[in-house]
Amino acid sequence: MSEMTSRVREILSSLPAHVTLVAAAKTRSCEEVIAALDGGVRVVGHNYVQEADAMISRLGPHAATWTMIGPLQRNKAKWAVRLFDSIQTVDSLRLAVAIDRHARSLGRIMPILIEVNVGREPQKAGVRPEDLPPLVGEIAALSSVRIDGLMTMGPWVEDPEDLRPIFRETRALLDQLATDPSLGAPPHVLSMGMSSSYRVAVEEGATMVRLGTSLFGPRS
Ligand SMILES: *Cc1c(COP(=O)(O)O)cnc(C)c1O
Repeated sequence: MSEMTSRVREILSSLPAHVTLVAAAKTRSCEEVIAALDGGVRVVGHNYVQEADAMISRLGPHAATWTMIGPLQRNKAKWAVRLFDSIQTVDSLRLAVAIDRHARSLGRIMPILIEVNVGREPQKAGVRPEDLPPLVGEIAALSSVRIDGLMTMGPWVEDPEDLRPIFRETRALLDQLATDPSLGAPPHVLSMGMSSSYRVAVEEGATMVRLGTSLFGPRS
């Protein structure tokens, strides 16, 4: 068993059963991703549509569940809808409308997460918390996307403890959404926490963590 495979197993066994591990595969090779799958990873996240396409062509669509975790341009929405099983980075109605249109033309419902900029950082992707309820209302009216929950990145911090209030606020936003009658099924997915911060995120209610460095090692 490779070193990486055993690292993946260790991380997986440390996570509570209700938390999904997403392997953040940007810049990683197919071989690295295969080693992660051997270790028990089931969900692979990608930031770039083109790289994901190459990887999915090689590994096959059924090798994993593929989720988009990077910023998505509207002109790549069609490509992304074809490739991915879900999209975590929806932060505008225009993007949601594009995803909805392409999903409908393929006869499918696209599961999405809304990305929230809880840290209110300028120039960062994500909808601001105060803009979330109206955006959710508008997206809920689209028939071929389904809001499964929220995703957040959080600001860069030295000490992951400093992200605890951000994660806590994101959890509160999800709990609020879960009471929204315009949503068919209550959204339940909370994608937050990366290599340095996922333990704090899990304590604050993450149901999905996105790990790159701690799974694959430092990027070369
Ligand atoms: C790269 C990336 C991650 C993983 O980051 P690490 O710190 O390497 O674990 C998680 N989420 C997103 C959106 C990323 O781009």
